Amino acid sequence: MTEQEIEIAQDELTLDPGTPAEWERMRELAHVMVDGVFDHLEGRREQPVWQSPPDTVRRLIAGEAVPRTPQAAEHVYQSFLTNVLPYATGNTHPRYWGWVKGGGTAVGIMAEMLAAAMNPNVGGMDDTATLVEKQVVRWMAELMDMPATTSGLLMSGGTMANLVGLNVGRYAKAGFDVRAEGMRGGSPVRVYCSSETHSWLKKSVELMGMGRACLHAVGVDAGYRIRIDELKAAIAADQAQGIKPLCVVASAGTVNTGAIDDLSAIADLCAEQDIWFHVDGAIGAPAYWSTKLQPRVRGIERADSIAFDLHKWGYMPYDIGCVLVRDAELHKAAFASTASYLTTMDRGPAAGGFYFADRNIELSRGFRALKAWMSLKTYGVDAITALIEQNVEQTRYLVRLIEASPVLEMAAEAPLNIVCFVYRDATDAQNKEILMRLQESGLAVPSSTVVGGRFAIRVANTNHRTRLEDLELLVKAVETIGAEVLRLGA
Ligand SMILES: *Cc1c(COP(=O)(O)O)cnc(C)c1O
Repeated sequence: MTEQEIEIAQDELTLDPGTPAEWERMRELAHVMVDGVFDHLEGRREQPVWQSPPDTVRRLIAGEAVPRTPQAAEHVYQSFLTNVLPYATGNTHPRYWGWVKGGGTAVGIMAEMLAAAMNPNVGGMDDTATLVEKQVVRWMAELMDMPATTSGLLMSGGTMANLVGLNVGRYAKAGFDVRAEGMRGGSPVRVYCSSETHSWLKKSVELMGMGRACLHAVGVDAGYRIRIDELKAAIAADQAQGIKPLCVVASAGTVNTGAIDDLSAIADLCAEQDIWFHVDGAIGAPAYWSTKLQPRVRGIERADSIAFDLHKWGYMPYDIGCVLVRDAELHKAAFASTASYLTTMDRGPAAGGFYFADRNIELSRGFRALKAWMSLKTYGVDAITALIEQNVEQTRYLVRLIEASPVLEMAAEAPLNIVCFVYRDATDAQNKEILMRLQESGLAVPSSTVVGGRFAIRVANTNHRTRLEDLELLVKAVETIGAEVLRLGA
């Protein structure tokens, strides 16, 4: 190469600050941001839970051209403060109980910054990020009373964690080489769930090429738990027809009502019939950490694989879910892959290979283990468990308030931390209107579902900031808005 062809020799580019003064300026801005973030968090209770982004903000964000030239970082941060931060869904607020979401923590915020500073790609090489994630998984296995040899990893959430567990189950139980032949390798297979199972399962069997036809959604009892007699009959009927029962997906906390399937009975059945026992514990698995609540989810420790979310009832910031697989060999065998550019070396960072890449579908992965490691150590598992118990107690309190109300009524049992209720004399459309008015008021954000064919307002309490007074406010607000909606005939 000649001198002329090398154009950059003099002023080489980087995205780092250039001079010491520029480093200093960036450092100062970072301090300002930290203050802004904590001001926001500390004052969160006083702000509306949720407000829809106003049109000005929508236009401002959606109308901006590709930013080809630089803007001052201070200016960009200001735009975040005024335009982005105030219009979140609201789950950091004490009166947010929509869907199932955790609120994050102060330590979680800081851990996310530290993880970004280190910026490892946690495919599982010879580095501390890998050691930290393996340790978090070991802690999770111990907390769930799974053997020390249990394998697992952290995923973006329950959906992905469940998918990993189900895929290991398919590999283990299909009876043919699924990895080589896909679903053409042998007899048709069946996956059993209940009619209350979360929609991750439909998406997953579609993605895995098994199709929704492989699913058998078993009916539920009055408490929305899978009917064991019906499950047994379905398995026997399939076996008689040459269909291979692959996996039972049990729920430890359904998304609609928090119902917990009879996990011990399903564990027995799966052991007897040589079926993979997977538990979707996205919501309820952490209840196992509490001696008080553990009896409700007992049997989960016998699962072949468990998926659960730490961004729900672990209170950690998004995103973080966990999958545990009892048989470490099967876990690896279901996913491990080889490629010339991903060779295990004798020494160097690739010594030992790519541990996590060999145990899930992703190769590049962030350091989400750090927020788990720091949260568990800083707060302690006992404190997190005490909050889980507090949420369940608060749920019982809310049920009492609803039962004591002259105008409200429960729409389903509330066995864990989810409450479905209605304004008794309102139609479905009116209850929907009540919910939307409540959300728009900024006072509280529950969500909704349909239980027993009826539209219900649904409160899912995985909120470590909620106080009893917040639930009292909620009930009063629904009573007031309900009366208004009924009066208007809206
Ligand atoms: C939330 C949830 C999921 C999906 O988990 P994500 O973290 O949202 O991907 C699966 N199952 C149940 C029961 C859930 O509540």
